[in-house]
Amino acid sequence: MTYRSGRHFLQIPGPTNVPDRVLRAIDAPTMDHRGPEFGVLGKYVLEGLKPIFKTKNPVIIFPASGTGAWEAALVNTLSPGDKVLMVETGQFATLWQEMADRLGLTVEFVAGDWRSGVDPKLIEAKLKEDKGHTIKAVCAVHNETSTGVTSRIGLIRKAIDAAGHPALYLVDTISSLASIDYRHDEWGVDVTVSGSQKGLMLPPGLSFNAISDKAIAASKKAGLTKSYWDWAPMLAANEKGYFPYTPATNLLYGLKEAIDMLMEEGLDNVFARHDRHAEATRRAVRGWGLEILAKNPEEYSSALTAVLMPEGHNADALRKVILDKFDMSLGAGLGKVAGKVFRIGHLGDFNDLTLAGTLSGVEMGLKLAGVPIKASGVAEALAYLGEANTGAKSAA
Ligand code: PLP
Repeated sequence: MTYRSGRHFLQIPGPTNVPDRVLRAIDAPTMDHRGPEFGVLGKYVLEGLKPIFKTKNPVIIFPASGTGAWEAALVNTLSPGDKVLMVETGQFATLWQEMADRLGLTVEFVAGDWRSGVDPKLIEAKLKEDKGHTIKAVCAVHNETSTGVTSRIGLIRKAIDAAGHPALYLVDTISSLASIDYRHDEWGVDVTVSGSQKGLMLPPGLSFNAISDKAIAASKKAGLTKSYWDWAPMLAANEKGYFPYTPATNLLYGLKEAIDMLMEEGLDNVFARHDRHAEATRRAVRGWGLEILAKNPEEYSSALTAVLMPEGHNADALRKVILDKFDMSLGAGLGKVAGKVFRIGHLGDFNDLTLAGTLSGVEMGLKLAGVPIKASGVAEALAYLGEANTGAKSAA
């Protein structure tokens, strides 16, 4: 293979670029996971995750990808045949629904257009209709990574309360945690599912369940079969900072570093940084004369932007040109939008010049691939970034 100079631009919406500090932290001798040193590390990361989920309750860490934490959320809280309410916001909502179905749950899956988030009014209406409280859980994906649409989790909570319904509330924050504001306790979420490879800036391999008291109570009665995912032995071992089976020790070194970095920057600054980069990206897209997949401005994702290709142009052909020519990976369109969209990830360890490079690669690629563009979107983005950096108020 030919040598490619410089650093690969990994601008998919996760896994994200792993900062050098995290890589160095991981690159250390593996320790005895039953020894005294490990207990200190375990306690540090288990406690350190709580402010990131904005919870005072336990956060469980699984040595698994996000899909494992989805399964853990379902099997710990529900029983065979239980009804769950889900909305088709995109590919990840679809996959979670398929999992629930395979596990023996009864899923009401409300069809969606892959351009909008979960409508709180729809949830309220569905729950009000359910007078017998047969719906045991409402599941929502906070940031639909396949579409760049963020559902309003706090408003959905209000909808559940307005319906006076006791359903559990399970939320996937795999591509939003530590990138977009999220409040497990305040929004009354019962299980928050997340993963290591996006806003937490780690390699793939860890996933999480933040759990409410109501979820813990539900887990004592839940009848779905579980073993590896069982919260009970985890919670017992976690009390002293240990795990019931071998944890992903070196990833936990990285997690400790990532927690420190997020706290050093401050979560509000992390969110503001992502909001700003998302806005700059949208300005670039509009500058090119292309369309953003997300329909409603109040649901725009600050973690990624999905861009619709003009009629007659294929997104994967464009991504190939950009990869071959500029050594940059962009996210593919998934499921129903395969070939129709490409996704620009702007989450994780990311700054103005990373974004400038990313958008430049896209703009050059569009030209090389023969995709008609109106004007330089990069110029629009740079104007905004320069302005926003000086603290000047933006015109739009
Ligand atoms: N949910 C969302 C929103 C995701 O973005 C992903 C992966 O990208 C998943 C679930 C699945 O997670 P994993 O691929 O880590 O199993």
